[in-house]
Amino acid sequence: MHHVILGAGPAGVIAAETLRRQAPDDRITLVGDEREAPYSRMAIPYLLMGNIGEEGTLLRKGARHYSDLRIEAVQAKAIQLDTKAKQVTLDNGQSLAFDTLLIATGSNPVSAPIPGMDLPGVESCWTLADARAIQARAAKGARVLQMGAGFIGCIILEALAARGVALTVVEMGDRMVPRMMGPAAGGMIKQWVEAKGVAVFTGTRVESITQGKDKTLDVKLSNGKTLNVDLVISATGVKPAIGFLEKTGVKCLQGVLTDEHMQSNVPGIYAAGDCAEAFDKVSGTTVVSAIQPNAAEQARVAALNMALQNRPGKRAVLRGVTQINVLDTLGLISTSFGNWQGVSGGQHAELTDAPAWRHLSLQFQDDVLVGCNSVGWTEHVGVMRGLVEGQVKLGGWKDELLKDPTQLVPAYLACAQAQGHWSGADDARRRA
Ligand SMILES: Cc1cc2nc3c(=O)[nH]c(=O)nc-3n(C[C@H](O)[C@H](O)[C@H](O)COP(=O)(O)OP(=O)(O)OC[C@H]3O[C@@H](n4cnc5c(N)ncnc54)[C@H](O)[C@@H]3O)c2cc1C
Repeated sequence: MHHVILGAGPAGVIAAETLRRQAPDDRITLVGDEREAPYSRMAIPYLLMGNIGEEGTLLRKGARHYSDLRIEAVQAKAIQLDTKAKQVTLDNGQSLAFDTLLIATGSNPVSAPIPGMDLPGVESCWTLADARAIQARAAKGARVLQMGAGFIGCIILEALAARGVALTVVEMGDRMVPRMMGPAAGGMIKQWVEAKGVAVFTGTRVESITQGKDKTLDVKLSNGKTLNVDLVISATGVKPAIGFLEKTGVKCLQGVLTDEHMQSNVPGIYAAGDCAEAFDKVSGTTVVSAIQPNAAEQARVAALNMALQNRPGKRAVLRGVTQINVLDTLGLISTSFGNWQGVSGGQHAELTDAPAWRHLSLQFQDDVLVGCNSVGWTEHVGVMRGLVEGQVKLGGWKDELLKDPTQLVPAYLACAQAQGHWSGADDARRRA
């Protein structure tokens, strides 16, 4: 069997290693289009903060790691796929025939349709190459404008602040992290960040970027202001890197649609990570959940099944992709789990302690906690995850939580244990 993996990020690397363990004699080829040895994007903020060097971003240490595992590494971009002939074409002219294929190509930053986005000094913060360009311009005291205050935007903000730059954040939503947090939570994070010296404009768009004097940039905002800065960072979202799958017959929604075995609609072709659209048990829909733990788990499941393709054996199943986000924004911890916006016909409880920088928002469907947001209340993080992921029936405890949302820990102890969710939820509590 020849297993071909497209994309050498965390999903691709974990799949390759899992396949080697499961199928010692099979051929494995790992194709990645970046010039670097496989690395982790989520380490980039630590690189920008100066906590690690570039070698600290590498997924695996040791130059011979992949060759020792007999994983053939190819540096090229997949540009075409023939599902009938089971063949991938690469931009170096090479064609690879495969028995199974994993699409693990991740996602690419989306560039806002604004004049000036291609000017020098306008950067994404997605690759190691981007990080090097940011390091070159974001010296202490440099004036930096960041477009976008989503999950990744807030992580980048933290790294930029640590570099001592004068930072302005522009977010077109009415609050920070608008796709992860409700108004009270997003508003509280904004106030916190402003109190730490970062200028934040929400409900504001960047309208154009033009070249200023001495390599600076003039950024015109929809609120009438024009800011002169040394660097613009675009963090306005990403989208799955699946353009090469058009007209191939591989079914894609936002990402490559997969079943519970991470297989696409084409037998033998799998997807995992940021480019995959997998089934989420909690919301009952398919989602692209672009965080690294989900990429790792999806890759593991896909690889276990690829090793068994055309062979008898029990198939591995993905347990779900609960939407989990835990964010540290300049020291303020916030979380978002599952259906944090609530479901139709559901109930909602909310508690805000503004002077203490604390907020809790719980969403119920019947007697199950289906989603929640928290700011500043770190002691509940593990149990919130356990209750949402475990879909624990709360019975009478739901009314207690509607009255006092801080009763999450007693509710969890009383209900999760009684329903045999203990080990999974407790594990979640430890991991969170
Ligand atoms: C600044 C930053 C901070 C983050 N922080 C966190 C965090 O705190 N927690 C968290 O869980 N997640 C975080 N993430 C998200 C996390 O990095 C991603 O979820 C994770 O990288 C997904 O892994 P992946 O293997 O699916 O995709 P990727 O890591 O994107 O890897 C895909 C690889 O495939 C390559 N590729 C694309 N197209 C092709 C092609 N056609 N042919 C060959 N190769 C191709 C890409 O260049 C890339 O190297 C962060 C991301 C960034 C940018």
